[in-house]
Amino acid sequence: MSAKIIDGNKIAKSIIESVKNKVKSMKEKPGLALVMVGNNPASEVYVNFKEKDSKEAEFYCERYNLDEKTGEMDLLKLINELNRNPKIHGVLVQLPLPKHIDEKLVTDSILPHKDVDGFTSLNLGNLLSEKTILAPATAIAVIKLIESTGTRIEGKNAVVVGRSNIVGKPVALMLLEKNATITVCHSKTKNIAEYTKKADILVVAVGKANLIKKDMVKEGAVVIDVGINRIGNKLVGDVDFENVKEIAGFITPVPGGVGPMTRAMLMENTLKAVELSSRVLQ
Ligand code: NAP
Repeated sequence: MSAKIIDGNKIAKSIIESVKNKVKSMKEKPGLALVMVGNNPASEVYVNFKEKDSKEAEFYCERYNLDEKTGEMDLLKLINELNRNPKIHGVLVQLPLPKHIDEKLVTDSILPHKDVDGFTSLNLGNLLSEKTILAPATAIAVIKLIESTGTRIEGKNAVVVGRSNIVGKPVALMLLEKNATITVCHSKTKNIAEYTKKADILVVAVGKANLIKKDMVKEGAVVIDVGINRIGNKLVGDVDFENVKEIAGFITPVPGGVGPMTRAMLMENTLKAVELSSRVLQ
């Protein structure tokens, strides 16, 4: 049996369409600031996509391309201005930042209700409570893609491979919140296959091409591949897609799976940020 392919492009398109319709009825346009430091080619592609999406959704968008040598203090000053700018509801600083800049310090300088990436310590910490303000876009995308298959998360064995603060851990916490039984694997896990083979839901966020092979996957599993790896001029995920799709029940492709959904979730987070701004004293 061949897996059903989860079409992230199609689902994302319909979400962006609904964001667009909501924007039409809003008095004030959602404002998104995109900040990039340096010329990392991958970051440039991601920021271009985010700019395109926000224009398509008819947001007000400001883009800042700062020089590679921009000092930490200058970046913090810009974020402070954006925090105070009432036209800007969401501030997104593209990571990674150049090595001379403290990423955590910069991320945490964004006001939590403008943190549309959901990366500030406060928003990440809030994943431990039921009172999430803005959650990381990729993690929300993963949950929505699983739910798009009609799979009930409650009671399932869910295995997350990767434990970064911005993908693996938030995904694991969200699955736990939805009553799955969670196992988190990482680079020190011995015999990963022992865990992945038992997963009804398998989420892989590592950044290693073809790490997950067919014999590591349970028949009928929902497989969500977050990884993005460049091989020559081709993008591939962390899952050996061609072979794993023969055994999985559902699988996301790379590209066309988690990537476009993450971008759609950023748009939804920006709408949420507009609503949050109306509840915060400016
Ligand atoms: P990261 O911060 O580098 O974290 C990678 C994680 O993988 C770490 O927890 C690491 O374990 C674990 N790991 C490394 N080698 C492993 C192995 N052989 N077996 C099991 N686990 C292993 O990366 P990230 O930011 O979470 O991103 C992961 C991937 O997702 C990347 O390819 C990235 O480009 C992609 N991504 C995609 C989107 C999207 O929208 N599609 C968004 C974000 C990220 P340790 O903790 O022990 O080091």
